[in-house]
Amino acid sequence: MTEFSCPLESTYTELPEVFFSKLSPTPVSQPKIIIFNQKLADKIGLNLSDLSTNERTAFLSGNLIPKGIKPFAQAYAGHQFENFTMLGDGRALVMGEHVTPTGQRLDLQFKGSGRTPYSRGGDGRAALGPMLREYVISEAMHALGVPTTRSLAVVTTGETVYRENEFPGAILTRIAGSHIRVGTFEYASLHEDKAITQALLDYLIDRHFPAIKEKDNQALALLKAAIEQQADLITHWMRVGFIHGVMNTDNMALSGETIDYGPCAFMDVFAPDTVFSSIDHKGRYAYANQPYIAQWNLARLAESLLPLMDGHREEMVEKAEDLLNSFEQVYKNKWLSMMGSKLGLAGIGNKDEKLITDLLDWIHQNSADFTNTFRDLRKEKLPHEELYNSENFKNWHTRWQDRIEKEEQGLETSFALMRSVNPVVIPRNHKVEEALQAGEEGDITPFHNLISALDKPYEDGDHLLPYQAPPQPGEKVLQTFCGT
Ligand code: AMP
Ligand code: MG
Repeated sequence: MTEFSCPLESTYTELPEVFFSKLSPTPVSQPKIIIFNQKLADKIGLNLSDLSTNERTAFLSGNLIPKGIKPFAQAYAGHQFENFTMLGDGRALVMGEHVTPTGQRLDLQFKGSGRTPYSRGGDGRAALGPMLREYVISEAMHALGVPTTRSLAVVTTGETVYRENEFPGAILTRIAGSHIRVGTFEYASLHEDKAITQALLDYLIDRHFPAIKEKDNQALALLKAAIEQQADLITHWMRVGFIHGVMNTDNMALSGETIDYGPCAFMDVFAPDTVFSSIDHKGRYAYANQPYIAQWNLARLAESLLPLMDGHREEMVEKAEDLLNSFEQVYKNKWLSMMGSKLGLAGIGNKDEKLITDLLDWIHQNSADFTNTFRDLRKEKLPHEELYNSENFKNWHTRWQDRIEKEEQGLETSFALMRSVNPVVIPRNHKVEEALQAGEEGDITPFHNLISALDKPYEDGDHLLPYQAPPQPGEKVLQTFCGT
């Protein structure tokens, strides 16, 4: 096999050395590409098409490191549930940063590539099922218009990983705006050397918040920007019924992207207290709790940034608290406006919040399907379903019709708005599990079919019908697992 080059940079390793460890992936015995995202490679201008299949497989499994690439694992910490822990990339390596033709810097990361100095007791490996799960959900989130890391490839390693059972080992190639987490700042601030956190802040601002470069009191400005960014992200999650499942501070990325798809899942029937994760016993990361947890995580970011804020400590504590307290209103405004668009309203008036919450209450009380209820509303005529024949629903529907008719831009525009935010299809858990199970048993066709069904989630089509139906009682997925 010839050596080849793939021009990846590694500006992250210009940070102080505490932030990373340079090392290479551990080779694997029999790598095989299971899926490769050519559309994504084309979109970001990553040209691997000159490589032979063997070379490409060797690269994506970590067996062949292109000339000039200097991979590294990132150090970070984090609050897992409420407990502070030292973490770091225990089974991941950033192979380098790819700069797109339009100048965007993206991390190319392998997940499952072997042990690192941060592995603690872990084996550094990943199982095929969870990597396919990250692939399909992250790609679906992207198609749904939710900021997210992307998935470029999954390869199997030919090795077995041992969890509660034996599973085929796999490596996912993840493409991300960056991997700087709230937990990276928590880690930096442990060093009692302001210069360390300052270096991380400067790097983050350069990479994701260039507008802040011109501002005074950059640490405070960053906190404000992160509040906006995370409120935007959570609003998207709530729009599509997504439950992350492990919103630990190490899983909150300051690129503003959804990151680390573990026990995440989409809701079928609408219930605000929905939890899928098998480890979330108290419902900390339930659907409706996500905005509060985002605020809690941002408070951890604020604590880490406090020493860098210019001004007297007490005054800065007060300013940071004011900002953190503003999260609720910032989020609520975004949520109201998003829910308004789900109902075809371009702006929100006095009585609209009640219109929104009455519908959500009705969906909840009737255990209706979250996605399909909004999908049905976006049609100009409601389907003749028994569910929609109740007096309660009809009353709500009349109120809504009266309201939407008052929209200045006209009904056509309202329906177009609804079609742009209410998906026809989401990655329903039972369909995901079905595809992953087949994939683990060697049949990747259902997985490919699922990926293509989720490609244009706002466009109707008869071929989507099998993916739109809520699970039958026997198909319901009640719990999801981290699979680490
Ligand atoms: P996650 O649940 O994927 O967000 O991971 C939490 C932490 O556990 C991170 O520091 C991971 O790198 C680490 N980790 C997860 N799985 C493994 C593994 N198989 N081997 C080593 N470290 C792991
Ligand atoms: Mg994580």
